[in-house]
Amino acid sequence: MASSLPKPYLPLGNATILRHTIEASYHHPQIQQIQVVIHQEDEDLYQKATQGLHLPPPVYGGENRQASVKHGLEALAAHAPSHVLIHDAARPFVPASLIDALLQALTTHEAVIPTLPVTDTLKHVAKNHVTHTQDRASLHAAQTPQGFAFPLIHKLHQHATHTHHTDDSALAEASDYPVHIVPGSKTNIKITTEEDYMLAQSHYQNHTVKTGLGFDVHAFDKEDTTTKTLRLCGIDIPAPHPLQGHSDADVALHALTDALLGTLAAGDIGEHFPPSDPQWKNADSTQFVEHALALLRAQNARLEHIDLTLICEQPKITPHKPTMREALSTLLGLPLASISLKATTTEGLGFTGRGEGIAAQALATVRIQQQEAHHAH
Ligand code: MG
Repeated sequence: MASSLPKPYLPLGNATILRHTIEASYHHPQIQQIQVVIHQEDEDLYQKATQGLHLPPPVYGGENRQASVKHGLEALAAHAPSHVLIHDAARPFVPASLIDALLQALTTHEAVIPTLPVTDTLKHVAKNHVTHTQDRASLHAAQTPQGFAFPLIHKLHQHATHTHHTDDSALAEASDYPVHIVPGSKTNIKITTEEDYMLAQSHYQNHTVKTGLGFDVHAFDKEDTTTKTLRLCGIDIPAPHPLQGHSDADVALHALTDALLGTLAAGDIGEHFPPSDPQWKNADSTQFVEHALALLRAQNARLEHIDLTLICEQPKITPHKPTMREALSTLLGLPLASISLKATTTEGLGFTGRGEGIAAQALATVRIQQQEAHHAH
């Protein structure tokens, strides 16, 4: 690579390769934790690359890939996960559908890897000359993530101290454990050479940017004089009265949910969570946002930025802005720099001016990756 930066920290669009790789599974509802393994000297680069993401501290790698994976597994062992997906930092374009396929296969197999049949004709070469042609009929190229029952792969790594395999599946194979395959993805390229990096950049540029707008209003519940707080942006702030609503009435998160749905032309919050449905009574509105984020993920859409405006005379929003932005950062997996939160009044005019309720406007910007638009071979 021409750059002096280690590969995972090379820029790809407005983030690093590593961040794109993490985000490919960060919002997946079945992925509970992501443990990153880094070079010790890359700690500063790592912190910068993962700003706004909520991850356990990274662990430091070993002298080769196998040793590094082992360190990662040791860190996860404390949580006793049932399964683990082991992934290369340099594969940022894992489609959500591939993660789904691996997790589905892990319900009936202990070791599952994605592979693609080799389509190029393979030659044995010595001294710049072809010696013979390899029959490729049974040859597949292995990708990551590779999925395993956690106790199995943990045990294999603990016992494999004198070997050095280039993937984790090889440890299972060496111990005669059956390794199941699912179809890999041509977009799931591993960035190894300068040419791969250029391909990744062109793939990343092959996207559509879309925006969505959301708007919502909730009235104060003036009959409730005992609650003394209301919910905004997922946090409770002091207020004379709470807001009225079927759910927790978080007007900001409702506007935000509609903005996210708007980027996908996926209807509105009322269609996804009908107020007539008793299961959403007093619901925590963060789950509405999480639902919209899952829809984004399924479309390979990456949330890039939100701009939220709260409109009311009371309560005063400004003192709570830092806490609200932190809460939104956690909820959305976005750095603070991508979370704009503004507050305004309507100069005493209209329903907000009369102190009858709070209005919220939200704008969301997403980048939607084209599927299978580029072929690695
Ligand atoms: Mg609402």
